[in-house]
Amino acid sequence: MNKLLAGLFSGVLMACTASMSWSQEMQNPEAQGLNGQGLKIQGEWQQGAVLRGQVVPGTQVTFFDRKVRVAEDGVFVIGLGRDAPASVTLKTKQSGQEQVHSFAVKQRQYRVQRVDGVPPKTVNPPAEALARIRKESALARKARKVDSVRQDFRQAFQWPLLGPISGVYGSQRVYNGEPRRPHFGVDVARPTGTVVVAPVSGKVLLAYDDMFFSGGTLIVDHGHGLSSTFIHLSKILVKDGEVVEQGQPIAEVGATGRVTGPHLDWRMNWFKQRVDPQLLVGPMPDYE
Ligand SMILES: [Zn+2]
Repeated sequence: MNKLLAGLFSGVLMACTASMSWSQEMQNPEAQGLNGQGLKIQGEWQQGAVLRGQVVPGTQVTFFDRKVRVAEDGVFVIGLGRDAPASVTLKTKQSGQEQVHSFAVKQRQYRVQRVDGVPPKTVNPPAEALARIRKESALARKARKVDSVRQDFRQAFQWPLLGPISGVYGSQRVYNGEPRRPHFGVDVARPTGTVVVAPVSGKVLLAYDDMFFSGGTLIVDHGHGLSSTFIHLSKILVKDGEVVEQGQPIAEVGATGRVTGPHLDWRMNWFKQRVDPQLLVGPMPDYE
């Protein structure tokens, strides 16, 4: 215990000497300074954010009524959905001592995006498609429930492909003039067949060739409930259960499902909370 505390305190000094990136901090948790309540959160509390936390190892963490998985070194990850409330609480419990931490969540403004020319049946699905749609969404829901010990989320995220961003997280969608659910991914417009690589390593939870709305669909687990979903794919290059490395080709861009043209739609979840991949990966680098 004393050794641990000493390590944490020396960590405070270290943390002051340089500002570290997500991946540096995640790989060097002992370099993080915990506050007086034994908690540190890195990242901005805003809708769509993924936040990384640090507690004294062995501490229990509860968020959105979920017991959060905490790694052996005290690192954990949580996510805030598109419509996360303006105030949230996180509970910690260590050596029988329970603490409630409150945080203000920045509320974002989302745009309305009109998308015309998608196949009409994908806006108003025929009755005979409903059973298929239900089955497919149950598969995706099941995949996103997985709470694994993987810790791929500690790596620095990279874009799964480079190109023009044609759709952003959160925007209210109007398809062929009819309002539908918001858009939860970031869209990158590239021709069919363009290679998509893994943004960090992970394990394939679902590889499904043709879903009604999302077409070729691939879900990859990055650990602790954080997952990536890639949709509208023309081709999936990996199989269920396969472990993929960061940068490994995993799929090809397509125009399958509810689309007007080829693009990659990259979504991320922390369990049911849909989070904004752009907040993790940073700005799109220059591309040709
Ligand atoms: Zn999209």
